[in-house]
Amino acid sequence: MPNQATDNGHVVLVGAGPGDPDLLTLRALHFIQRGDVIVHDRLVSDEILGLVPEGVEKVFVGKAPGRHILKQEEINELLVELATKHKLVVRLKGGDPFVFGRGSEEAEHLIKHGISYDVVPGITAAAGCGAAARIPLTHRGMARSVRFITGHHKEGHGLDIDWATLADPEMTVVIYMGLKNLNNIVANMIQAGRAPDTPAAIVENGATEKQRIAYTSLQDLPQTRLEGDFKPPSLLIVGQVIEIAKILNHD
Ligand code: SAH
Repeated sequence: MPNQATDNGHVVLVGAGPGDPDLLTLRALHFIQRGDVIVHDRLVSDEILGLVPEGVEKVFVGKAPGRHILKQEEINELLVELATKHKLVVRLKGGDPFVFGRGSEEAEHLIKHGISYDVVPGITAAAGCGAAARIPLTHRGMARSVRFITGHHKEGHGLDIDWATLADPEMTVVIYMGLKNLNNIVANMIQAGRAPDTPAAIVENGATEKQRIAYTSLQDLPQTRLEGDFKPPSLLIVGQVIEIAKILNHD
């Protein structure tokens, strides 16, 4: 809905899922086809961008690890600026906007500037990659909980994770943005008491045509990553549930 009080446009933070257009929600598709301008980052696939009607402006604000094309503050500002010019601004984000997507920071900024917004959930990488690799994130008797953590940290800061909380052998740990600090993450998890031979997997470009999967163990993750030359976007999954995947992969 356009913002009546200020004449400003409306911004919708739309989750685009892991990359395959089939995994968009109908609501996401609705907004992709109706936005007056589309603001997207690197994780939004070309196939999904292909659904944007011809002639609609697409603004790339791509962020790749270590080289931000636009700083988050600049993206926040851009959304405000676009909302003063357009009725419907669609901010497309990979996965779910509210899972390691900084969507909430954009929402805070919009509120501060009196701009109305909505959020459309998307399939987050953990769900998309779990299904694609046939790794259930929970399984009775094997994983009673699941944790999503990020392996990324602000420049100059260490990883801010309470490692001891990841030691539960019946917890699946899903690590977003984990490649850069992989050695550090693995060492910390083992030191905190997670068994080195805990099954693990790397899923690169999960739920897309380019998907690659390697099944390994916690201690061998760094080696497997090197051997397979895994690149972002890759998701790491650690836990007993990987054993189930080996069974579920038999069609
Ligand atoms: N908001 C997104 C996450 C953004 S952080 C979501 O909900 O999924 C970016 C990280 O997500 C990547 O570094 C990677 O770890 C993970 N990721 C996103 N899409 C992925 C995919 N298709 N395959 C594997 N990992 C993915």
